[in-house]
Amino acid sequence: NRESDTTAMTSFTRMEDRGFDLENRRSTLEERELKRTLSPVDRVAERGYFAAASGSELPVLDADEALVFGSNNYLGLTADQRVQDAARQAAATVGTGAGASRLVTGDTMVHRDLERLLAETKSAERALAFPSGYAANVGTITALEPDVIFSDELNHASLIDGCRLSNAEAVVYEHRNVPDLRSKLEARSESASEADESWLIVTDTVFSMDGTVAPLVSICDLAEEFGAWVMVDEAHATGLYVDGGGVVQAEGLEDRVQIQMGTLSKALASQGGYVAGSNALIECLVNDARSFVFSTGLTPPAAATASEALHLARHTDARERLWENVSHLRDGLETMGFDVPGDSQILPVIVGERTGALALAAGLRERGIVAPAIRPPSVPEGTSRLRVTPLATHDQADIVACLEAFRTVGDELGLL
Ligand code: PMP
Repeated sequence: NRESDTTAMTSFTRMEDRGFDLENRRSTLEERELKRTLSPVDRVAERGYFAAASGSELPVLDADEALVFGSNNYLGLTADQRVQDAARQAAATVGTGAGASRLVTGDTMVHRDLERLLAETKSAERALAFPSGYAANVGTITALEPDVIFSDELNHASLIDGCRLSNAEAVVYEHRNVPDLRSKLEARSESASEADESWLIVTDTVFSMDGTVAPLVSICDLAEEFGAWVMVDEAHATGLYVDGGGVVQAEGLEDRVQIQMGTLSKALASQGGYVAGSNALIECLVNDARSFVFSTGLTPPAAATASEALHLARHTDARERLWENVSHLRDGLETMGFDVPGDSQILPVIVGERTGALALAAGLRERGIVAPAIRPPSVPEGTSRLRVTPLATHDQADIVACLEAFRTVGDELGLL
């Protein structure tokens, strides 16, 4: 198989399957009598989170009344009364803390409800909630034990740490560069020591400092050509696209992306992370993801908050309001002459030198606008920027105030 493959060397003739044989792994676990399962749920949560009155106030004022344009609370749901009521109700009926790992006595109906809703949103067989997005990435990659990981150079630190801890060979490809990924897959394929290596391509979908979106369709094409699996980090996309899904849902790639990971801590207004995928994948994680097994379950209020926020992301106009604000703000900044690359709700206003970015952020702050300056080492030298994120709960007047402040300070600093 390998020989005919290397001689042919044409696209789609490679027949290696470099995926992960999770079914066999499960039987090995059974033989070792190590199979863990989530314990039966013995605490029943009262459900009724969706009945609470609406009326969210703007979560944009900090102590001295500044408009915040730098939060990941994209849908503004941390201040939504329905979401707050869900947290209160879960605390009152289930308790404030899980009290133990999910595998011991920390499993509740609120966790199960959240996982069901996540799986449905992601069109996956099952989902699993982790204590944080960081824990989800590190736990998942180490549990899979890949031989080789192909990773976008701008991937989040938690993916990078997962790669490091897993001891896999890491191959870093240029940001969103499909030809570079192809040539690295080809080169590694030619030098592969064993035909049954497992390969994983990992990428953020929305990149947190650049607002760029991964070319997922092309990545899936390459993954299938080379037999690899795809893992995506939808931290900055979850809840914002079709039906409250992420970029995978927007592109209709549910059947081609094996591991959909994300956080509950951004649009879903809570804390925690999740992984959605096949039954076999989740079974593997329940057994082998050490950050799941050996960490206390998500607090019930955190789980209930995320469920309610996901429900609202799916069934209200919050997403539309966010995207309207994004295009209003982006158009305004670009018309002024600012360079605002990217394709998402994250608007990086590129300034260049770090002193310029700091001066712009300080000037905006004096005018009541909070927009964080991002400097090296978080971004490459010469690309210091302001990371501007409108929220669904900003109104027209807020966006106009933000644009006016950018115009005034930009003029003063000679940036326009
Ligand atoms: N992935 C990405 C892309 C992130 O931006 C973050 C958080 N900044 C994480 C993972 C980690 O998520 P959490 O904060 O829930 O640990």
